[in-house]
Amino acid sequence: MSPSNPPKSDVALTHPDRLYWPDEGVTKQALAAYYAQVWRLMAPYVVNRPLALLRLPDGIKGHQRFFQKHAWKGMNAHIEEIADPQDGDGEKLLRISDFDGLVALVQSAVLEIHPWGTTTDHWERPDMITMDLDPGEYVAWTAVLSAALEVKARLEARGLAAFVKTSGGKGLHVVSPLAPKAGWAEVKDFAHSLAENMAADRPETYLATATKAKRGGHIYIDYLRNGRGNTAVAPYSTRARPGAPVSMPLDWQELNAVSGPAAFTLDNVPQRLKARPKDPWGDFFDAAVPLE
Ligand code: ATP
Ligand code: MN
Ligand code: MN
Repeated sequence: MSPSNPPKSDVALTHPDRLYWPDEGVTKQALAAYYAQVWRLMAPYVVNRPLALLRLPDGIKGHQRFFQKHAWKGMNAHIEEIADPQDGDGEKLLRISDFDGLVALVQSAVLEIHPWGTTTDHWERPDMITMDLDPGEYVAWTAVLSAALEVKARLEARGLAAFVKTSGGKGLHVVSPLAPKAGWAEVKDFAHSLAENMAADRPETYLATATKAKRGGHIYIDYLRNGRGNTAVAPYSTRARPGAPVSMPLDWQELNAVSGPAAFTLDNVPQRLKARPKDPWGDFFDAAVPLE
């Protein structure tokens, strides 16, 4: 990526000074500027994928919060509607295909972007697996780091590559690229059994069921991001949470130095991109293999 050559968009930002993260002073215009900086890195994970969008028209301190999978009134024309081939008569889904689409999301107060794990070129064959590590309240951050390494080892043992990112919330996401071959049921079953195996081997540490009761001291290995229609927050997407955190792709080598799940924010990402111009997920799609 060349930060000195950001993409341009003709999509008009109305009220560019509107505050999306008021405590941090992050405006609509600042959000658009951030996405221009990361666009080339982010594009493969958001373009041509069905999207679920968290839209907060009055910013993160406002009362309106819509988790949106379908068009809304007055939606910008750069956000496309697309029919789900398995749901011919159903409400259309949403997609963007270029930087104008991303700016249209900013204009529409979309503060979180959650894509499906596949593109609309091959709906029924996912091109990634997302293992979402959800620590309970009393889990130390170092335990989350160990869990990510454990998931990586198990994915690699099955011949898959593994990449890691902060969630921008409470945990980490370990993501494997797939050559689009296996269907949703197979991919979800695979993710489920990986989670169950971890919980069976270390029941004092890991959980493979969403039961909240036992969560406190455990890390829930949330495999449920992998069903048809399920989503996970996109790499580089902001989160609608205090501090304006983003879901940040990392190098495995730097993981131990990362202070927490929300360590990267709109405030410090520009600095990071300058200091580490190499894309930590640069090989993501080249590393894709079919799930066997
Ligand atoms: P954390 O690290 O805090 O777990 P996360 O991104 O892993 O962050 P959530 O933000 O809790 O987890 O979201 C998990 C998934 O649930 C999202 O990827 C999204 O698909 C779905 N989701 C999030 N918010 C909503 C909502 N308001 N309604 C329905 N589904 C949602
Ligand atoms: Mn999570
Ligand atoms: Mn989860």
